[in-house]
Amino acid sequence: MSTTSISSIRTPFYLYDTDLLQQTLAAICAETEKYDNYHVHYAVKANANPKLLKIILDAGLGIDCVSGGEMERALEVGFSADKIVFAGVGKSDWEINLGLDNNIFCFNVESIPELLIINELAAVKNKIANVCFRINPNVGAHTHANITTGLAENKFGIAMEDMEKLIILAKSLTNVSFRGLHFHIGSQILEMDDFVALSERINQIQDRLDSENIHIEVINVGGGLGIDYQNPNTNPIPNFKDYFQTYHQHLKLRPGQSVHFELGRAVVAQCGTLITQVLYIKQGSFKKFAIVDAGMTELIRPALYDAYHKIENISATKNIRLTDSVAAVESEETYDVAGPICESSDVFAKGISLPMTRRGDLLAIRSAGAYGETMASQYNCRPLPQTYILEELGQE
Ligand SMILES: *Cc1c(COP(=O)(O)O)cnc(C)c1O
Repeated sequence: MSTTSISSIRTPFYLYDTDLLQQTLAAICAETEKYDNYHVHYAVKANANPKLLKIILDAGLGIDCVSGGEMERALEVGFSADKIVFAGVGKSDWEINLGLDNNIFCFNVESIPELLIINELAAVKNKIANVCFRINPNVGAHTHANITTGLAENKFGIAMEDMEKLIILAKSLTNVSFRGLHFHIGSQILEMDDFVALSERINQIQDRLDSENIHIEVINVGGGLGIDYQNPNTNPIPNFKDYFQTYHQHLKLRPGQSVHFELGRAVVAQCGTLITQVLYIKQGSFKKFAIVDAGMTELIRPALYDAYHKIENISATKNIRLTDSVAAVESEETYDVAGPICESSDVFAKGISLPMTRRGDLLAIRSAGAYGETMASQYNCRPLPQTYILEELGQE
């Protein structure tokens, strides 16, 4: 048993709660087992930490990749290629070749030129590539504009009106095998009605294909299920029951069809916390700043999407000094929590209430397991963040 304690580790760092990850995966599996032919591919772009991936592998999930690097990572960890789906609007030749060499389950194709290149590269290798078409269903999602992907104006997917043309083209090509359709309407979606709308759109598309005598085996509805950023303590596990039940109730399947899901955020967001130390409490002309040692280089979501993360002062109870008055002990103060990076957007939260905070206090930036570590950068020549597993550390 390691004796490292959280307060002795150099900050900032990511701390992962793998017990919570395991409970989350168990919740997913308990729901998908209720339905025939439901398969979950974890969207590795949310978090590619090998220790987390191993746990996700052991739970039996497949993988959704959007790059060759992600495929390499997934294969290294031990995911079987026949559970890998590969999406992305701009797949490079080496990435396509990597998928072909490993015989991945499916390429989610986003354009005619991409389909032709996959066919050409597969022919060189004397292989037949499984392809699904990513269709842009023109279904909105009630989420941040930068993370909607299923509207006609977004760069993703193939327009619905071009769908048959592509299917006919694919059937005429010798080195691709057309398997089905793929969709992904956005991320951090909490309204089940958005998934109902997607299901209904897929039903319309299937009716249209039936009338044209085109049969598909694979329906991939993508990911996008959101999490409760406001209340990570009371809602650590997303509502997978409602999510899968929504598809079960609304998506009409034909015999033999399998349904594939690509969940990222919902799997890993709540199990990760970014731990940062307060460097300075700085009094501005009309507000107080808690300047911390983590920045947008470790967690860019607030700067990029205006994202909310709950912030807790985990040292506060230890701050109480014998000389403090009762009022001081109970007092809360309002802070902007800002990082050290030379960008005005490098702010984690504005005007939040924290217990009286001092230099040296540790802050926990919660729900940072998805799109945190994977989006870290070395801007300002900063080192990439270290990561620790809560269960591997000694008790505080
Ligand atoms: C990002 C992405 C996902 C995962 O989205 P989440 O909101 O994290 O569930 C799934 N599929 C595709 C194609 C993606 O690009």
